[in-house]
Amino acid sequence: MPDASFDILIVGSGAGGGTVARELAPLCADGVRIAILEWGARLRKDEFTGREVEMAHRLFFESGGMLTKDRAMTLAAGRAYGGSTVVYTGTSLVMPRRVAERWGVPGLEWDDIERRSAKYAAENKVHSLPPDLQNDNNRLFAEGCRALGWKVEQFPINVDGCRGAGVCNLGCPNLAKQGTHRVQLPVAEQAGVEVITNAKVERIAEGECFVTVRDPGFGEPSPWAPGEYRVRSKVVIIAGNAVQSSALLLRSGLGADLPALGRYLTLHPALILVGEHERPLSNTAGHPKSFYCDEFLESAGFLLETCMYYPFTTAKNLIGFGAEHSQLMKVFQCHQQILVLAIDPPRVDNRVTVDKRGEPVVDYRLTGGVLDTLHRSMIAAAEVFFAAGARRVHVPAGERFFIGAEERDRLEELIPRRNVRPGQISVSSAHLMGGCRMGADPGTSVTDVWGQVHGYPWLFVADSSLFPRCSEVNPYLTVMALADRVAERIRDRREELLSS
Ligand SMILES: Cc1cc2nc3c(=O)[nH]c(=O)nc-3n(C[C@H](O)[C@H](O)[C@H](O)COP(=O)(O)OP(=O)(O)OC[C@H]3O[C@@H](n4cnc5c(N)ncnc54)[C@H](O)[C@@H]3O)c2cc1C
Repeated sequence: MPDASFDILIVGSGAGGGTVARELAPLCADGVRIAILEWGARLRKDEFTGREVEMAHRLFFESGGMLTKDRAMTLAAGRAYGGSTVVYTGTSLVMPRRVAERWGVPGLEWDDIERRSAKYAAENKVHSLPPDLQNDNNRLFAEGCRALGWKVEQFPINVDGCRGAGVCNLGCPNLAKQGTHRVQLPVAEQAGVEVITNAKVERIAEGECFVTVRDPGFGEPSPWAPGEYRVRSKVVIIAGNAVQSSALLLRSGLGADLPALGRYLTLHPALILVGEHERPLSNTAGHPKSFYCDEFLESAGFLLETCMYYPFTTAKNLIGFGAEHSQLMKVFQCHQQILVLAIDPPRVDNRVTVDKRGEPVVDYRLTGGVLDTLHRSMIAAAEVFFAAGARRVHVPAGERFFIGAEERDRLEELIPRRNVRPGQISVSSAHLMGGCRMGADPGTSVTDVWGQVHGYPWLFVADSSLFPRCSEVNPYLTVMALADRVAERIRDRREELLSS
């Protein structure tokens, strides 16, 4: 087995890994050897084709279709040079102060998260899109919310030179989206950080990692030939996403020392809802997500956002088959779409485990409280569609496939709570959080407030798995802020960590 040797190894190159690499990169000038091991590929520009099925295969774990153990939810996470930042929509929110207070991690202040989030908002060119770049789908959402008297806000977005291809979640073909693949990773590489793509970290132990390099058949070739490697390192930083980081630490045998490992997973459960308008809308061109409504976030625990998904994703999210399903898909150009996101509580039993092969199993249950929230959110979304002029809507828990505009006063009756059952509605998640939560108590947390794993001075976590509970809003800026803290800690303890 070939050997390689570094001072600092980073597992994963997404929001967390890319940030920590960029912040540690100046150490390379002093001779510190840093590498990122990234499971996914580095795609060539011409490989961002915008074709749904092809890009899902190239950029997502399990083509975006990873299932929870009970098969009630689909999980989406990116696997690429840049991780999920290649496929995220780029909506850039700072976590509200009340969420940091709810997290209640001693030594973690909201002001610190806010300051660090602002740094990356500036670095990744976050700004509001002008009205001429907002399409009908977004305008209708804002009009519908305002007609109902609900507060609607514009999303700050991190694009530079957006040409409105509308396929953010399939990787931007125009390279406009400012993920870590466009901003932090190039800076880190320029400074001397090595990035080894197509490299899956199988296991870690003190001082070494075991890695398999494979050729996926697309993307730039990995700098390392296919094969198995033993890689030595003084410090290891795990940033593989909330599910994969927990799985890596569990299959490396850390579960015995860390009772909270893999637990308190939150998924920000989401639903896609569709309203049908009489006329075609300019919904497939332009940035898909310009507005959100947090009117019900504190009182009822859900966020409404604009979204526009692609035909395959939309079709699999509709409930039912046959003529009505086909009718709705045939008028895809007339769709208005809304995404709802529900706050889910951190439950000790919602957890990542590993199977016999060491692969993650997501044992997650939608609680009655979350199902209540999803129920309220479906009714709210239907109200927005009708207020925006939709002729009929499709709601996953509807008594019928379509609810017509003439029935809008009967939404409570036509969308009964009893129909909101796991496995009967199509719930998904793209915001995986927790599993290696920060905290002071090693009984209920995995790392300290700086991301160092309890009892393992050489091991850090720097990704969304650090979240002690749901971020309630879109999480990537918070991931970057926490990763920035981890890098600062390692820089401060550099002498102690990198000596010998
Ligand atoms: C479709 C989609 C849309 C989203 N839209 C938004 C949005 O608009 N706004 C927002 O705030 N958030 C959004 N998110 C969420 C956001 O992208 C994530 O919260 C964030 O990227 C998580 O950062 P991370 O570092 O934990 O993981 P990731 O960014 O997912 O990076 C993890 C990386 O680690 C690699 N990896 C995993 N295991 C291993 C291993 N064993 N060996 C080597 N490499 C490994 C993976 O391949 C991956 O590249 C979206 C997510 C998705 C999937």
